[in-house]
Amino acid sequence: RSYQSVGLVIGVTGIVGNSLAEILLLSDTPGGPWKVYGVARRPRPNWNKNYPIEYIQCDVSNPNETKTKLSQLTDVTHIFYVTWASRSTEAQKCETNGIMFRNVLHAVILQAPNLKHIYLQIGIKHYTGPFETFGKIEYHTPPFTENMSRLNVPNFYYTLEDILFEEAKKREGLTWSIHRPNTIFGFSPYSLMNIIETLCVYAAICKHEGFPLKFLRNKESWDNGDVFKWKHLWKELAGQFGIENYGLAESEKVSLVELMKDKGPVWDEIVRENKLQLTKLEEVGAWWFADLVLKGGDIMDSLNKSKEYGFLGFRNSKKSLVTWIDKNKTYKIVP
Ligand code: NDP
Repeated sequence: RSYQSVGLVIGVTGIVGNSLAEILLLSDTPGGPWKVYGVARRPRPNWNKNYPIEYIQCDVSNPNETKTKLSQLTDVTHIFYVTWASRSTEAQKCETNGIMFRNVLHAVILQAPNLKHIYLQIGIKHYTGPFETFGKIEYHTPPFTENMSRLNVPNFYYTLEDILFEEAKKREGLTWSIHRPNTIFGFSPYSLMNIIETLCVYAAICKHEGFPLKFLRNKESWDNGDVFKWKHLWKELAGQFGIENYGLAESEKVSLVELMKDKGPVWDEIVRENKLQLTKLEEVGAWWFADLVLKGGDIMDSLNKSKEYGFLGFRNSKKSLVTWIDKNKTYKIVP
């Protein structure tokens, strides 16, 4: 069979990679028919196994392994870079993530004669600054647009962009796109930042212990939003876990990080009782991330440019929330 497009998804079990593995192969996906290679470090999990992709276990932070495994993929036409590594400081993130991205590009750019396009996913922290400077530096007034200048702080997103600009010059005609999404709704128990899964685990623990499902951040965030408000999604979340008592917490002083810090054994019990996939609480609950995301604030980005380029698809946030909760239940990540 011949393919018009051959995608190489780096981070194929992540929150976006797992959806790409599903979507690229559909018959009506633009640019198809697609053949897809998918890369991640761990063995292929069962919730990714049904997609007819070629799975490659490879640690892209290791230059030799990356070169050996990825330089053989000479038919690649598109690279989808949807991965990242967390480190304690932003400077360390710049270094590690830069090495990973370079390793991939060095292994593929000059080896794949038909390579046309590199898709780089970064995120809204391009405009707000990295997690470690949140609340400490001033940023542009939202809505954020692509032409806004960089902030004067280290940011691994800037490192990735600079590497892309430099490496893409090595091949004439090679195009690229950079994507800066806000919080992503999706399915992946291997994701470092998965808001839906984290909230599902929180709701499952509240249900198990008979606690109300409290929204622990500020009232502005509960009430604020452009196309959805957290209070509307919270109602859905509570409904999906059969919780009647839910709402805004009386005080925003308690964080999920604090509230969940001793719940490891409770989660083990929920997993055992409901015969769920074996996970540890720290794998499935990114409490620090949820505390930040639910805090809200004025961090809206403009979608004008994306729409001008013809990306008019949209999701209804409430329906999307329920779809991803269902997927977490179907694959027995949460009860
Ligand atoms: P995820 O954390 O969801 O997934 C990472 C993927 O990469 C997994 O498949 C992981 O599998 C794989 N991976 C990690 N390290 C390596 C490695 N060394 N070699 C090979 N594979 C590796 O990623 P996201 O989609 O969240 O992140 C991509 C970008 O999107 C990041 O820049 C992030 O900041 C940004 N972003 C994310 C948002 C979100 O809500 N999640 C929101 C906005 C932006 P394994 O661990 O098995 O290797």
